[in-house]
Amino acid sequence: MLNREERNKNFKRRFFYKRKAQNREGFKDRQTSDELEVDSREIRKIISTEQMLSVVIPLYNEEESLMELSLSLKKVFDLLKCNYEVIFVDDGSKDGSFEKINEINKRNSRYHCIKLRRNYGKSAALSAGFREAKGDIVITMDADLQDDPNEIPELIKVINSGYDLVSGWKKVRYDPFIKRYTSKIFNYFTSKISGIRLHDFNCGLKAYKKDVIKSVKVYGEMHRYIPALAHMMGFKVTEKVVKHHPRKFGVTKFGANRFLNGFFDLLTVAFTSKFIKKPLHLFGTMGIIFSFAGFLITLYLTFLKFFGHESISNRPLFLVGILFIIVGFQSFSLGLIAEMITKSSHQDEDIFIETTL
Ligand code: UDP
Ligand code: MG
Repeated sequence: MLNREERNKNFKRRFFYKRKAQNREGFKDRQTSDELEVDSREIRKIISTEQMLSVVIPLYNEEESLMELSLSLKKVFDLLKCNYEVIFVDDGSKDGSFEKINEINKRNSRYHCIKLRRNYGKSAALSAGFREAKGDIVITMDADLQDDPNEIPELIKVINSGYDLVSGWKKVRYDPFIKRYTSKIFNYFTSKISGIRLHDFNCGLKAYKKDVIKSVKVYGEMHRYIPALAHMMGFKVTEKVVKHHPRKFGVTKFGANRFLNGFFDLLTVAFTSKFIKKPLHLFGTMGIIFSFAGFLITLYLTFLKFFGHESISNRPLFLVGILFIIVGFQSFSLGLIAEMITKSSHQDEDIFIETTL
């Protein structure tokens, strides 16, 4: 049994430690809010009052995510205290996405919507959004809550430090195994072909200077190659590690054909980046090589015929020589036609907008 004096001592000790712990907690709280104060003051300096921010969000059947996304974006805008607009591009959604955005637009008229007549694909949706964006800095992000709006201030910082494009790098990814690994292969080849070393070309979260989005043509499934195209056009491109989240609602909108289409688009990038303005350089060179090889073969056979007195009509080499000459001429004329097309064509898809808010 403890006597009275010991009980009192125990009580005082417990009280003392409890107070100490409370003080520590209190101090921690005060410290965090001080830090927050400093943070928000710092954040306010990230974007100047003259700079406008546009956020372009392509979406296809993402009704569950839209309200949460717009609320988290609003928190970031409040911290940044900047002039902003959000452009949702409804890429022909069949669920209630447009109604959701309508509701959001009624609460805050800076959240707009471009509704496309049908599902054109993410690239076309981005392209439509880029056309309407008025901001000096443009952010793109997915609508499925996989990209984190809290990364926006850091991306703007990088842009304002002198870069034209900052591409997010989902270093820790929450995607299925197959997608993570095919993505690695895709990123490796795109880096090799485009000449810019990035870890994650296809991240939805990116920041651009206005000039980039007004210059880069995004069509087909080219959204995967925007950093490569921008780099090839001479823009200063870099990357920044960003947080990534698992998909909260719905399913991915890209099926298995994403791999095949991605591969074809890689070929397009490789071809168009080097030869779009001068197709004759590619086809012409091929044409000359083939025709010359064909010419040498037939010349050799002619010598055999006239000086060796051999019969050449039954030799397979004779056919090969003629084939090479024909293929060479074909290739050359293809180059000429391609050259004429390049001079007179533009690659914009016809995008029909139903309504704009
Ligand atoms: N998306 C789109 N049109 C499409 C397919 C997708 O606008 O035809 C949007 C989609 O709603 C999302 C973003 O593009 O906001 C990325 O799509 P998803 O999350 O399905 O791609 P993943 O994360 O699986 O690469
Ligand atoms: Mg996604």
